[in-house]
Amino acid sequence: MSPEEFRRLGHLVVDWLADYRANAGSKAVACNASPGDLLAQLPKAPPEQPEGFEAILSDLDDLIVPNLAHWQHPNFFAYFPSNGDLSAVLGDFLSTGLGVLGLTWQSAPALTELEDRVTDWLRQMSGLADSWQGVIQDTASSCAMIALVAARERTTKHGAVTTGMQHGQAPLVVYASTEAHSSIQKAAMLAGFGCDHVRKITVDANRAFDVAALREAITTDLNSGLRPCAIVATTGTTTTTAFDPINELANVAEQHGLWLHVDSAMAGTAMILPECQPLWHGIDRADSLVVNPHKWLGVSFDCSVFYVRDDQHLVRVMRTDPSYLRTTIDDQVKTYRDWGVALGRRFRAMKLWSLIRTHGTERLRTRIRRDLDNARWLTEQVEADPEWRLLAPMQLQTLCIRHEPVGVTGDALDKYTLDWLQRVHDTGRAWLTPAQLDGRWMVRVSIGSLTTEREHVAALWQLLQEVTAT
Ligand SMILES: *Cc1c(COP(=O)(O)O)cnc(C)c1O
Repeated sequence: MSPEEFRRLGHLVVDWLADYRANAGSKAVACNASPGDLLAQLPKAPPEQPEGFEAILSDLDDLIVPNLAHWQHPNFFAYFPSNGDLSAVLGDFLSTGLGVLGLTWQSAPALTELEDRVTDWLRQMSGLADSWQGVIQDTASSCAMIALVAARERTTKHGAVTTGMQHGQAPLVVYASTEAHSSIQKAAMLAGFGCDHVRKITVDANRAFDVAALREAITTDLNSGLRPCAIVATTGTTTTTAFDPINELANVAEQHGLWLHVDSAMAGTAMILPECQPLWHGIDRADSLVVNPHKWLGVSFDCSVFYVRDDQHLVRVMRTDPSYLRTTIDDQVKTYRDWGVALGRRFRAMKLWSLIRTHGTERLRTRIRRDLDNARWLTEQVEADPEWRLLAPMQLQTLCIRHEPVGVTGDALDKYTLDWLQRVHDTGRAWLTPAQLDGRWMVRVSIGSLTTEREHVAALWQLLQEVTAT
């Protein structure tokens, strides 16, 4: 495609996206597609002759959009938000259009230095000490794996990197709470710990890591000749947004020489509010931390920021230094390929930079406060209604709720919950996700899409009354 064709078609694409976003709220938010619906409409073989880009645009409307759920919809209350502010979309577009690759500092100096600076901006915005160094990865899942590899190498004094799984020492153990994200289990599997060596520690009444139970588990493992290696704490768990007590976990980590990784994928964004920062008190004592600006903050997916306090250790673990990538200034610059798995690096910093500069930190904080207010408002409505129950403390912007009519219990309650949730989705007027808590289904209401205002939350509450009216 020539630059002139690109200029013409690019305007069409921008117009198409602007219309899509402007009208996002008018569509049914969840998707009713059945498996294979799109496949049945796609040619089995690629075109031999040019079809032109316009053909793609018309298929967007006819084939693609009908087979999508709309994540940027104001009635999106599912999972956690994945906000792609249009400023970040433009940053992402620029990054792709520049088509540069960070292999070394020299291969795209601005790519490395902008990433260095904007991750530091986010560090400052979040009230973190200046001892943290940031790097952008694809997802929190990858960050968890990198953290556990770094932990493994610290405990084995770089032994596992040298001799691999044959290092012949006692097994290493990872500790996380039962509420930790599934990516922690996956990270431990892939980092070579083995599922048998992931301890899922019980939680307290607030669904936060039970530190006494952790201490017991560590003692038991030590007495069995195993080697405790890492603790993974979560600030803002996926099911209920519970906060593990970071400072107390840091005490345990320090006492036993364990790596402390903090998964703050969702709630990290709230830390741009000074009033939320006590929720991760002690954070500067952790070894690694992940926050996902691609969730609530507004950076279009994917943009996960991984912070470490000892970047030299991380680089030593990941470094391979092949001759074809060596340059004369390597010792004066950051070489981000040694901070993770991938060699080639996208210019992801561009979209974080775009978001922060377009809005400024004050406006970003105002939006996050709006969402916290909306969640508190809905919590008040739920608590004031005798048939509804709030099943976990509402800490940020996610409510765990259930409608419990008198006499409906046990398996019947599970069926009842999933049935009314289906009725919600059938209306197309909201999208919520169910999850199990203490073995029973409940519904999560996650508030925080860019365009979700009080009126949308009020309409949701109205809808919940309608689908549960008898
Ligand atoms: C969303 C989330 C994850 C997974 O994030 P990805 O970036 O999709 O890997 C992990 N942990 C928590 C607490 C999350 O909220």
